Amino acid sequence: MNHGNLRYGPLDAVADRIGHDGRLPEDTDTTDLVNAVLARSTPAGVYLTPGARWLLPEDHPVRQVMYRPDWDWGRDAYPSPEACAPTPQSLRTCPVYWINGPGRALAARTLCGHEGGYRLKDSCLACEEANEAPEGADPDATTGPLVLSALVHLDAQVSSEGDCAMVDLGQVRIEITDTLGARIDYPAIQHRGLCAQIVQQDNPDRYYMIYASADRNARRDVDHLAHAVTAEANRYRLARR
Ligand SMILES: [Zn+2]
Repeated sequence: MNHGNLRYGPLDAVADRIGHDGRLPEDTDTTDLVNAVLARSTPAGVYLTPGARWLLPEDHPVRQVMYRPDWDWGRDAYPSPEACAPTPQSLRTCPVYWINGPGRALAARTLCGHEGGYRLKDSCLACEEANEAPEGADPDATTGPLVLSALVHLDAQVSSEGDCAMVDLGQVRIEITDTLGARIDYPAIQHRGLCAQIVQQDNPDRYYMIYASADRNARRDVDHLAHAVTAEANRYRLARR
């Protein structure tokens, strides 16, 4: 892919037909938009990324609903389509999906499995305890080194800076950051997680998230994260050829 040929014209072509929720029309070829990180392909369809909304004219209806909606397919982490039965772990991995998003009704009626007949969205003490780090775990040993070791097989340049690991893919980079305390839906002290997002090198405002973990013990999620990052990296490498 040639940087000089990158234009945002494709957004103009669909601008009149974007849903208020950012959904793009199904009969449109969105490959270029997805490759340019202007759209994100999800199980529910193709949706504008948050950064892409800013490219629309200021009086565009989709710009008018700026922001932040409780749930956004173009922004928030969602479970794999096969994961139809949520568990307490599901709420830690994709909290927005289950608390504010399409999974809300299902989470509200699913029992967490602990004593007391609590549902997943209730405040269950046993769920909160399960969310704590195991005895002796060092919460500070989660991010940089752990992520870098998980990405060791990735055929791309990986670097780290503070709590952020970066995979340089040319036109875009993947940033993996520690999200400690970044989520308002988890108390900072209980939550430690990782998120990975694809960022356009020439416009850091244009990004989309490819992975989010909201687990106090992020270690168990690192393999999943590495898998997601590797898949995206391969996709971008193929796209560049
Ligand atoms: Zn519970």
